[in-house]
Amino acid sequence: MPIDVGVKGVETYQFQAEVKKVLDIVIHSLYTDREIFIRELISNAVDALEKFRHESLLHKEVFDGHLSLEILINTDEKAHTLTIIDTGIGMTHDELITNLGSIAHSGSQQFLAQLAEAARQDINLIGQFGVGFYSAFMVADRVRVQTRSFRPEERGWEWVSDGSGTYTIAPMDGLRRGTKIILELKENAYEFADPEVIKRAIKRYSNFVPFPILVRGERVNTIQAIWTRNKSEIKDEEYTEFYKFIANAFDEPLYFLHFSADAPLAIKALLFVPKENLERFGFGRMEPGVDLYCRKVLIAKHPEGLLPEWMRFLRGVIDSEDLPLNISRETLQDNTIVRKINQVISSRFLKFLEDEARDNPEKFNNFWNTFGIFLKEGTVNDFQHQKEIARLLRFESSKTEPGKLTSLAEYVERMKEGQKVIYYLNGPSREIIESGPYLEAFRNRDLEVIYTHDPIDDFVMSNLHEFEGKKLLSADQADLELPEEKKEGAKGEEVKIGESLSPDQIKSLTAWLKEILANRVKDVVESHRLVDSPAIVVNPDSGLSSAMRRVMQVVDKKLSQELPHLTMEINPRHPLIRGLDRLRAQDPEFAKIVGEQIFDNALIAAGLLAEPRNMVDRMYRILERVTQ
Ligand code: ADP
Ligand code: MG
Repeated sequence: MPIDVGVKGVETYQFQAEVKKVLDIVIHSLYTDREIFIRELISNAVDALEKFRHESLLHKEVFDGHLSLEILINTDEKAHTLTIIDTGIGMTHDELITNLGSIAHSGSQQFLAQLAEAARQDINLIGQFGVGFYSAFMVADRVRVQTRSFRPEERGWEWVSDGSGTYTIAPMDGLRRGTKIILELKENAYEFADPEVIKRAIKRYSNFVPFPILVRGERVNTIQAIWTRNKSEIKDEEYTEFYKFIANAFDEPLYFLHFSADAPLAIKALLFVPKENLERFGFGRMEPGVDLYCRKVLIAKHPEGLLPEWMRFLRGVIDSEDLPLNISRETLQDNTIVRKINQVISSRFLKFLEDEARDNPEKFNNFWNTFGIFLKEGTVNDFQHQKEIARLLRFESSKTEPGKLTSLAEYVERMKEGQKVIYYLNGPSREIIESGPYLEAFRNRDLEVIYTHDPIDDFVMSNLHEFEGKKLLSADQADLELPEEKKEGAKGEEVKIGESLSPDQIKSLTAWLKEILANRVKDVVESHRLVDSPAIVVNPDSGLSSAMRRVMQVVDKKLSQELPHLTMEINPRHPLIRGLDRLRAQDPEFAKIVGEQIFDNALIAAGLLAEPRNMVDRMYRILERVTQ
């Protein structure tokens, strides 16, 4: 609602609170790279032209249908103005309010905080937040937007603001279709009325714009659909330049992949992997970044569902001659050809990654460290490509040097004769895994164990279930069938194995423990894997590891309490367990306390003790007794 209506229907509106904050951030951001406002306004003009081209395919009647699609830039060095005109889709009265008076994206506090931080670090990032238009206020005291929608029944409007709290909208006659943006430059930004400055900025940021840009009547950009050109004719710098243009990036891509195919579809694609993963910096979930074209005509910018979700970090262009031109954005995902494109491109990209991993492992590890999390997501969400993605996963293991990574395929190559299972074990660091009780049995049998450091790794493994026909199993599972234990240590000396409790003693001790831990354990059994530790807890369900339990304890406490109980394994050769068996006869009450404490210690080793209160009290009682 306008806060004021003046003569000639001039309505005054207040900016949405979030816009005010954005304006405040933009106006006060660092003055380096101010020229990026040119890129932002041109990119809006391009969007508007592309939208118009698309709409004109769907509607019979459009306003000013004869106008050629282009961007005209004029400057007036005396009046200190810069004018950017496009013959695009234009805006209606209400669109002006929604598009230029509010923020479509989340206007949440978090979003603004991220934006403020990004603007502080690098104003270049502003376009990625969908607020590029407001960058005009970095250089202008006042911005006028004169616009006429392509819809025949609409009329023209002028939007004016000085970027403080309000803007006005008034009807305006005599406008052509499209949008004219007039910047009344700030005194310290008069240089932007110099056509040479503008031309340089266009060369720098907007050279690949797919419409002619004319500065004072002179054509500036070289329009090329680079992806349709022959690979051998394109220099690396051209790829980089194009990447910077379509991805709003300011550095080089990490990888690029340019290919074309004729069967099963006629496709040309140019895909880029950026250097940075913005999700990792807490900028929120990335939006897909690959555009869909048909014979160089943009069908949809960054459509959802064009590629699998986990590939949202890719930037680039896919062009297919087989697409119908008038396909609407809404029905894209249901289109058979789009689905086929999705299939062809994702397989091709995965193959590219596999080749890269083989030919240049160091660079690939770099990719893995930055984008591995997306591949992991893919193994869980993208069932179709799960197997291919699994080949790209990288982990540390008990056979890699610290910091070095291995693939599952390499693990399989190293597997011992008769070994049927790939083992993995989760822990926050190599040191913690290697000093914990779970690795003992594997070390003793010289079996390799993959180290997973991220709890989501265990979801990945559990989802994969197997790799090249080998089952993936967490080393903290109950139903591990490990080969006969080696009686020799790694260095060849005889391993000292202490005296064990007898089978009868074991039977009676485990039954007793099960009784005292009645509502906390599923079972208590003799361990065949422990060497140096008295006890461990293991997971009865092979789809669930301790790391996954840990996540659930945090994410959904109630659900985690409903999970099946753990099984405790005890080591009948360990002095503590043998001592406990004796203590049971001498002082049953105290033995009970020790038994419970052993269980809690095992939970701690598994990272699963959620409620330490009881344990601490009990520990004091044990310490009291020792110090008596
Ligand atoms: P974004 O381009 O990421 O959506 P902007 O702040 O740059 O964010 O622009 C906001 C919106 O204003 C655009 O989405 C578009 O709807 C509208 N807009 C901006 N410039 C133009 C233009 N030249 N023609 C038509 N609409 C425009
Ligand atoms: Mg924009």
